[in-house]
Parts: sequence; C-alpha cells; structure tokens
Amino acid sequence: MRRAEAVEAVADAEFLENYTPAVITGAVTTRLKILQHDAEACTDCSSWKYRKQVLFGRGNPYAKLMVLSDGPSPGDDEEGDLFTGEPGTTLDKMLAALGLIDGEYYLCNTVKCYCGSPDGAPPQEFVEECRGLLHGQISSIRPRVILAMGFPVFIDLCPEAQREWGQLGSYSVPESEQGAEYTAAVVVCPHPRSVRPGTGDETLRRGVGRALGVVKRLLGGQND
Ligand code: SF4
Repeated sequence: MRRAEAVEAVADAEFLENYTPAVITGAVTTRLKILQHDAEACTDCSSWKYRKQVLFGRGNPYAKLMVLSDGPSPGDDEEGDLFTGEPGTTLDKMLAALGLIDGEYYLCNTVKCYCGSPDGAPPQEFVEECRGLLHGQISSIRPRVILAMGFPVFIDLCPEAQREWGQLGSYSVPESEQGAEYTAAVVVCPHPRSVRPGTGDETLRRGVGRALGVVKRLLGGQND
C-alpha cells in the first residue's frame, strides 16, 4: 500500500469510528483547504516578508492527536515541511513512544509562516494575527488531545494553567457551524529542539516522559 493510501485508510477508520455524517461529505478536509488557501494569501503579520512558503500543517485531519509547535524554523521554511532536521527526528521518537505512526497524528504551528527569528519562535503579535487560522484548524479537526510543544504554546491556549511539564489544560470551541461545543485536552511537553541529543538537560528529558505518559493515558483511556 502506498503511503498516501495508508494515510487515507487510517483516516477512514478513524472517521467511521468517531465522527458524524457531516464528516462523510468531506467537510473537514474542505474546511482545511479553505483555511490553507486563506493562509497562502495572508499578509496579516510581517512574516510574509521572511517566509519562502506557507506551512499550514500536515497529517491526518481526523487524528485524535494534534502536535502543536510555535512556528516554522528556518530549515522548515527552506525545505517546505514541518519539524525538519534534528527536532523532527526527536519528535518521531516521541510519537513512536506513543505507539503512533505517520498518518495517525496532525502536525501544525501556532503561526503558519517563518517569522525571521533564529529558531522560528514568533513574537506574540504574530501569534495574535494568526490565531483565527489556528482556531479554524482546531475546530475543524477536533483532536481529542493537543500536545503543546513548549510553555509559550501551552500558555497561549491555556492561560490559567501552571507552567509544569506534563500539565493538563483544556481548549474549548463554542458551538458553531462546525458542530457542537467541544473541548480538547492540552498537554505541555518540552519542545523537541530543546531536547536534542547533547542539548537537553535531565529536567527536560523527565518532562518529556511525564508529558507523553499523560498523552498516552488520555488517548488510551477513551478507547477502552
Ligand atoms: S504567520 Fe499567519 S498571520 Fe502571519 S502572514 Fe503567515 S498566515 Fe498570515
């Protein structure tokens, strides 16, 4: 089975198990395509001056897990993909520890364009400008769990939450044309770029273990 077919097969299985007939019409993928089209034409923050391309997100639009980082790195912008290089390798190991393969999760950033900073971390005003696109992604995909990479991403979604690795927060979407009111669990994890071999300290490594343990429990609990 080719990779694209495998992704479709996973998506179909998820969708038949968990989603309403509205999804059968392709409403989720249609909404994401519209949002991506909006992003590709967007000049709402100054990132458009730095980006080579818009990196909207990728993965299974019916996934139970959304991995949310802060912004595309210079390498991501150059290569046209999310989580390139060593951070991507580290993320792959984290996801493998959860028992997830490519096609069983969705990856995206709080901002969709490289913003000019050395590591891709965006200024808060860019996050504010891009918030509508992120909210549209979350309310369309409706992941059960959002894995927030780093405290800035976590606190942006859950302002009242404590800054502690593995901490659990929530993000709510009110009732709308996308469907009924819905709440995602949000778990904070050290960013993969800060726990690369030789760069991460023990506290961060323990933080990754704690965060992944919480995510595993949340993803596994509702399948029982
Ligand atoms: S980062 Fe978001 S708000 Fe800024 S130009 Fe890109 S799509 Fe628009």
